[in-house]
This record gives sequence, C-alpha cells and structure tokens, in this order.
Amino acid sequence: MSHVFEAASSGRAKCRGCGQAIARGELRFGERLPNPFAEGEMTIWFHPACAAYKRPEPLLQTLAETSENVPDRERLERAARGSVEHRRLPRIDGAEHAPSGQAKCRHCRETIERGTWRIRLVYFDEGRFSPGGYIHLGCRKDYFETDDILDQVLHFSPGLSEADREELRHALD
Ligand SMILES: [Zn+2]
Ligand SMILES: [Zn+2]
Repeated sequence: MSHVFEAASSGRAKCRGCGQAIARGELRFGERLPNPFAEGEMTIWFHPACAAYKRPEPLLQTLAETSENVPDRERLERAARGSVEHRRLPRIDGAEHAPSGQAKCRHCRETIERGTWRIRLVYFDEGRFSPGGYIHLGCRKDYFETDDILDQVLHFSPGLSEADREELRHALD
C-alpha cells in the first residue's frame, strides 16, 4: 500500500510530527510503514505541513501521485525540498529556553546555559520520533548547513508566547 492524503474521519488521531490533534475533516497525510511489532503495515498520521518538514521524501512522492486537491501544495513542496536538501532539518522539533544548564550541545559539545535558547532535535526510527538532544541557537548554521530554519522552528513551537516568537524571529533573522 502507498502513502495517502485523506480527510480525517474523526478528530482523535494525533499528528506524529507535532503531537497535536488533527481536526475532523482536515486533510491529513498517512505514511505507510512496515509494522515493527507485527506482520503487515501501519499508518502514521501527520498534518501535511508537519510531514513536509519531518518526512519530506514520502510527502513529496505522494504529492506527485495524488489526485486529492491539496491546499498550499506549493508551500508544502518548498518546505519538503528544503528538508530533503539539508538532511538534518527534519530533526528540528522546535525551540525553547533551556530550563537548566545541564544539556550539552550536539554540535559543539559545550553546555547550553540555563535560560538561553536551544533547538530541540528528534530522530525518526521505525515510525516514531525520539528525543535527540539539543543544539545552541548559534550553532544552527554549522549543524544544519543552512540558516533558513525560522519557519520550521516556529512551526514546531506552538507553546511559545508571542513575545518569545518575536524574540526568535529576531535571533534567527
Ligand atoms: Zn502536526
Ligand atoms: Zn553549540
């Protein structure tokens, strides 16, 4: 079976990319994968924008084949192509102020100071995303090999206040 776009038949499924519910009737993207725990396949669901950032290859493949009318198709394609070109971008899971000074940056290995911004990383494996540590905001360019990460960081930071988002916009500009 191949991946699919379809209208969500209930509002119960959560997006694997951002953890938020997918509203009933909203278009969702289903990635089909071999089930690691049983025979057969499983489907994991995403908001299309979340899949564009975090699962770009299956999303692009499906966009090319689907007969569904997918809203914002061009934006999705652009986001997904960015994530294909820079192989670490799909790891971005948002940004936050470091609640303690314990974590070390995945890039430079230095401590991330308490209260400073850090970017959360996740790794995709067998249908799920697992926490993959953090990097300094200032290490983003060396780590991701691109500076164009603002939209993606904001997208996966729904819990930030408007003031924090504004601060990030300035920092990442
Ligand atoms: Zn989502
Ligand atoms: Zn660093």
